[in-house]
Amino acid sequence: MGFWEDERCEYCQGVIIDKMIDSPRKIGNRYVLIKNIPAGVCKKCGTKYYTANVLKTIEGSIRRRKAEKEIPMAVYSL
Ligand SMILES: [Zn+2]
Repeated sequence: MGFWEDERCEYCQGVIIDKMIDSPRKIGNRYVLIKNIPAGVCKKCGTKYYTANVLKTIEGSIRRRKAEKEIPMAVYSL
């Protein structure tokens, strides 16, 4: 724990805190929602940081495991 403790946000120099977050990721041409990702989140601007290890785990999970459930997702274009 506390991986991001002494790190500062590269955009605003804000404090980064450890948090479990849910985040959508694009895989090919579809999006999947990944839950309970251990991430660093900037307290000031909200930028999320992931360790290389976590990103690897996410990719592995998507490739090896079946989705727990499928949810419909609202889509908007700007
Ligand atoms: Zn920041």
